[in-house]
Amino acid sequence: EDDSPHGVKVPGDKLLGGLLTNGFDERSCLSRYQSVLYSKALTHNPSPYLISRLRSYEALLKRCGPHTEPYNKTIEQLVSGKQTGTSDCNYVVWISFSGLGNRILTLASAFLYSLLTNRVLLVDRGVDITDLFCEPFPDVSWLLPTDFPLTSQFSHLDQKSVHSYGNMLKNNSLVDSTLPFVYLHLVHDYGDHDKLFFCDQDQSFLDRVPWLVMKTDNYFVPSLFLIPSFEEELRNLFPEKQTVFHFLGRYLFHPTNQVWGLVTRYYQAYLAKADEKIGIQIRVFDTGVGPFQHVLDQILACTLNENLLPKINRQAHIIGTAGKQKSKAVLMTSLSSGYFERIRDMYWEYPTTTGDIIGIYQPSHEEYQQTEKQMHNVKAWAEMYLLSMTDKLVTSSWSTFGYVAQGLGGLKPWILYKPENSTAPDPPCQRAMSMEPCFHAPPFFDCKKKIGVDTGALVPHVRHCEDMSWGLKLV
Ligand code: GDP
Repeated sequence: EDDSPHGVKVPGDKLLGGLLTNGFDERSCLSRYQSVLYSKALTHNPSPYLISRLRSYEALLKRCGPHTEPYNKTIEQLVSGKQTGTSDCNYVVWISFSGLGNRILTLASAFLYSLLTNRVLLVDRGVDITDLFCEPFPDVSWLLPTDFPLTSQFSHLDQKSVHSYGNMLKNNSLVDSTLPFVYLHLVHDYGDHDKLFFCDQDQSFLDRVPWLVMKTDNYFVPSLFLIPSFEEELRNLFPEKQTVFHFLGRYLFHPTNQVWGLVTRYYQAYLAKADEKIGIQIRVFDTGVGPFQHVLDQILACTLNENLLPKINRQAHIIGTAGKQKSKAVLMTSLSSGYFERIRDMYWEYPTTTGDIIGIYQPSHEEYQQTEKQMHNVKAWAEMYLLSMTDKLVTSSWSTFGYVAQGLGGLKPWILYKPENSTAPDPPCQRAMSMEPCFHAPPFFDCKKKIGVDTGALVPHVRHCEDMSWGLKLV
């Protein structure tokens, strides 16, 4: 046992079974070693091979990271536009793009891709990355240096850019095999040529390009599992396929002290003492202002049918119970406060049939998705993390916000089906097959036969998602 700087005893498995390394300054990022005090321990054990590959990635980063000699050399090539011989240091640049849940999933995807291709991942800080996440790697920063020569182009890069891989394939302009950089457009609107990224022969071309600049809003990991040359490595890294995001997420994403303050104060005040903690994540993609009656009906139908919450007795004022009453703390997250208020009032106005005591809590109601306010994504991240600390989780279809919570928490959520035509679906929800996020825009292409194929039916561990019939997820 170590003594942490705050006088809290940190148990021996603060390194999460070897996923994390010792030697960070604890004070600058309290969540790194304290998370284990609040969350349940990891639900699975990382493989020894994953641990050894993470350690060798950290060594690679030390050798090739920002401002090392090999880094400076490849930057020179980037500026001059000429590549002279192969470099033993190659890079993936992740562009900060889309909502926070999406970004967390794409960072994990880009990191896994970097691990598989022996590249160094460098992270565009966007407007808020440094407010949200601690540095995940010891000694060397994962942040893209501010003087990186292509940064000013990031916002203009799209499918039609001259440096876009798919665009070059389309125009047959990929003649020069010594490109210093290639832009990979992996955003949901990408086309058939961009999707060839997921083919082996394209991967062997990309192997020779020192800088890959990537823009994506999708968790593309499931399709990496369908690339034959990555197959064996992935099997060794993740003997249990559904743990990919769980491990990479706990390895990479450590809330900053500001976010951690929000997480721990809320947890201690409202959740810690309950016998059971239940998370309900509400994300409504309908246009118009909620709250909507059909969404409320659906939340109640799901949580009551699945015995996550007890029914109420509208006939009685008080229900006597022998023995100890169980307390359940329900953490709700939503942009609007309407659902939370109705459910809280319900459990105030009537007793539960079981005598259980139900507390309903919602940290914020930001009303709409915002990009300007510093505190907005700080709260969003704290809420995702708090949801991951619950025992049972209900999430909304299509929402990456919920995927992050379930993955970090190692939870198989009950997924609320997406309502159609303003009616509550029946059944209202379904238990997920695995804790993995869903890839919303996967390719449907057989790289060898060069024909369309159902990529959700090729191997048993890559299936279509519960909440999106064309999506892919690991199970
Ligand atoms: P997705 O759109 O549900 O896939 O999730 P994203 O996280 O990518 O984008 C939604 C954004 O809206 C978040 O980053 C937040 O800024 C905001 N948001 C959505 N739901 C909530 C919520 O329950 N709480 C808070 N604080 N913010 C939310």
